[in-house]
Amino acid sequence: MENHVCPHCRTEVPHGANVCTGCQAEIEYGTPNSAFLAVFIAATFLGAWIGANSNSVVGWITFVVILVGGVFGCYKLFANRVNFKRIYKTR
Ligand SMILES: [Zn+2]
Repeated sequence: MENHVCPHCRTEVPHGANVCTGCQAEIEYGTPNSAFLAVFIAATFLGAWIGANSNSVVGWITFVVILVGGVFGCYKLFANRVNFKRIYKTR
């Protein structure tokens, strides 16, 4: 696997490492949790809205379809994503 360059300190970090060896930034791979949360919220609202406008079974099907499709979409979309999260401690 190729190395990644930390955007904070320009240190080369091997793929798979959890922290930057240069500045201790946390390294996150793949889909951010906020994306999953957004999918879940969208599925809940759309499922509830469609359920209220037609019937609850259709609402539940909509909820599951959006949830599963959204999660798979996130995995595809963020498959090659690497994010360096540097936490600035203010103590
Ligand atoms: Zn760094």
